Amino acid sequence: MADVIHPHSHCQVCGKAIPPSETFCSKECEERFQEMVKRRKMLVYIMYGLIIVILALFLLNRG
Ligand SMILES: [Zn+2]
Repeated sequence: MADVIHPHSHCQVCGKAIPPSETFCSKECEERFQEMVKRRKMLVYIMYGLIIVILALFLLNRG
């Protein structure tokens, strides 16, 4: 017989089974996730900055 699958979710950070209404298994995992999101945002900003610098240099060199 197949196991009955109870509705559940997984912690976004460590993958532990948690109730469907939860996103993280603990405060620690939530904080770790927020830190990850912050770092990813920072990377996106740095990338945009680099693209703008490269474009500016390209345009200046052409002119
Ligand atoms: Zn977790």
